[in-house]
Amino acid sequence: MKYRKIAALVLAMGMAVSMMMGCGASKPADSEGDTSASGSQSFTTVNEGVLTMATNAQFPPYEYYDGQEIVGIDAEIAKAVADKLGLELKIEDMEFNSIIGSVQSNKVDMGLAGMTVTDERKQSVNFTEPYATGIQSIIVKEGSDIKSVDDLEGKKIGVQLSTTGDIYAVEDYGAENVDEYNKGADAVQALITDKVDCVIIDNQPAKAFVADNKGLVILDTEYTTEDYAACLNKENEALLKAVDGAIKELKEDGTIQSILDKYISAE
Ligand code: GLN
Repeated sequence: MKYRKIAALVLAMGMAVSMMMGCGASKPADSEGDTSASGSQSFTTVNEGVLTMATNAQFPPYEYYDGQEIVGIDAEIAKAVADKLGLELKIEDMEFNSIIGSVQSNKVDMGLAGMTVTDERKQSVNFTEPYATGIQSIIVKEGSDIKSVDDLEGKKIGVQLSTTGDIYAVEDYGAENVDEYNKGADAVQALITDKVDCVIIDNQPAKAFVADNKGLVILDTEYTTEDYAACLNKENEALLKAVDGAIKELKEDGTIQSILDKYISAE
């Protein structure tokens, strides 16, 4: 636990230093489709008039399928952002692991996927200001001898591939103790069938998985707290500014809070 706090501090210090050095400044994008919206703002998107968002729709309540439709907190925030910018929203579902690459290669305009802002990801993409907070939680079977984060040493930990839960678990407990699954739901299935002793995953999907499966509990102890933000291509500073501005406005006028409240019941 101590270690994780120190790591978070070092990360925060690193971010402060790179902000002071002005890292991330870059040339404007040369992607197709010139779109002007929202007063004097001018920016380009991958497809003209469209805000294309990448997500992994296996992450309730941030993104999940309701029939054929992708719904959830991120879908609603993206719709509100697109409306503000005068764009149509298109959501593309992909592996979580592919989102940053798709943003980097201009296949999509932004990733919005309950994605945690990390120093390492900041080397590949730009993040907007955070719109929500996530907590890495630990799910165990009822009656497990894992009672807190201090009991994780030497246990088999299930995670979703390339998520912060994965990254931290490997750092703190060693790759040999971590089993990576493509979906959070698969990691939870591995816990149910005793292939792993616990699952480290974001708290909101953790709640959804525990509600859907009898005999699982979330430990009271928090593993780590993080910020969620949208990520955009480093070259497209204008679109970053536009999306960031829209998110700021949606925070200030209470829209984002009401979307969060709609999907997350007060504890
Ligand atoms: N917040 C976690 C991360 O950014 C998990 C996100 C997700 O699985 N959609 O790595």
